[in-house]
Formats: sequence, structure tokens, C-alpha cells
Amino acid sequence: MKKDILGVGIDDLPLEEAVAAGCALLEQPGCHYVVTPNPEFLLTAKKNDAFREVLNAADLSLPDGIGVIYAAKLLGRPLKRRAPGVDFAQGLMERLSQSEKKLFLLGAKPGVAEQAAENLCGRYPGLNICGVSDGYFKDDAPVVEKIRVSKADVVFVCLGAPKQELWMAKNGPETGAALLVGLGGCLDVFAGTVQRAPEGWQKAGMEWLYRLIKEPSRFGRMAKLPLVLVDAIAARFSGK
Ligand code: UDP
Repeated sequence: MKKDILGVGIDDLPLEEAVAAGCALLEQPGCHYVVTPNPEFLLTAKKNDAFREVLNAADLSLPDGIGVIYAAKLLGRPLKRRAPGVDFAQGLMERLSQSEKKLFLLGAKPGVAEQAAENLCGRYPGLNICGVSDGYFKDDAPVVEKIRVSKADVVFVCLGAPKQELWMAKNGPETGAALLVGLGGCLDVFAGTVQRAPEGWQKAGMEWLYRLIKEPSRFGRMAKLPLVLVDAIAARFSGK
């Protein structure tokens, strides 16, 4: 059952269970999508009703950022631990590489998804990447058609939030894929154009600080994030 964190339902699943749940969705009829909320999502969802509704209609909603864990704690609805989208994607690819299922990579700047595909095929022998497409397109239709023709079972949708979640909800069923996963900047990480924080930083819950040091241009975006904790305290005291 999902826990309500500032109006957004979040699943309280350890990573291994989240990956198993993602694989189970692949076997169910219909189209499903996974979202990975971080504090920025919660702040956007507060003002953007369409985004909030799409997040709450997701089949799986994983707490991507440490700020979501802190907010949940302050609300008195603690979540066990973070399930970062990039770790979920890796767990899923491990399982996909042992199956016949096909993966499509959508998003990031031209050339990035190709490089990510090459790196991932080296890292997960047996992984079947059936197509890639960059994330800077005007019309959805040709991209949807490309995914449909590729017969992808899973699509990693890496267009940034809220664009990727709205895209999945609108276009998911037309792609013919069983599972779409919104993964922000993951293709940049898989391509090696952005470095993920070393494990020590991740374990200490300081991945955000590492990212800020590496990409200082994100300061404006990140400076707003403590507001999530203020919102959580306010909601706790107002009994929401
Ligand atoms: N992006 C895209 N199309 C767009 C806007 C963004 O493909 O119209 C990509 C961008 O190149 C980057 C990703 O979406 O690879 C968003 O990364 P960001 O760091 O904002 O996401 P986060 O990891 O913070 O969720």
C-alpha cells in the first residue's frame, strides 16, 4: 500500500522488492508505469494538479531522494529506505538480461542514449536493447511509432520531470510496451557523461551534495528543496 507523502503516494518497498514488483508488472496485461519521486517532484506536484494525478496513478512509485525519506519521517509516515531510480533500473536490467524481453532507451541529448546502450550491453551481457531515441523531439507520434515497431517490452523514459511522467501517462499504451519507467538523468549516468556519487556518499545520503558540487548550475533548483521539509513539518502540525 502506498503512503501519502505531501499528496503523492509512495510505495514503501526495499529495492529488491521494487524490482520484483516491476518484473511482475511486465507479466500482467496492459501498460504500466513507474515513477521515482524526489523532493523536486513533491514541490512541483503541489502546484501542478495534472502531474500529481499522473504520479498517483502510477503502478509503482519509488522514493528516489533522501529528502523524501526525511519528509516521510517528519510526517510520521516513515519509509524504510530510498529506492533510487538508477538502482531500480540496474536491478531491472539484470533481470531483463536473463530473459527475452526487449528494452528501449528514450531521452537525453542526441548521442547519449546510443552511448548508454553500448555501455549497458557490455555491462549486462544478454540485454536486448531494441532501440534508442533522443529526448529533444517536437512530435510524440514518430517516437511512439519507433517504440511500437521495436516491439519493446520496457521503455526507460528519461526526459526530466514532469515531462517524462506526463509523456508516459499519455503515450504509454500506444507504444505497446508493458512497462515504462521515468528515470530523469539516468541515461547520462549510463553513458558516462555524468558521474554518480561514490558509494560512500550514496550510503551517507549525500548524493545530492556530490551532484551539486559536480553540477553547480543546479544550485537554483536545489536551493528550493528544503521547502519539502518545511511543508512536511507544517502538514504534521496541521494534522494533514
Ligand atoms: N531531457 C530530455 N528532453 C527534454 C528535457 C530534458 O531528454 O526536453 C533530458 C536531459 O537531457 C537529461 C534528463 O532529461 O538527460 C533530465 O535530467 P535531470 O538531471 O533534470 O533529471 P534528474 O536526474 O534530476 O531527475
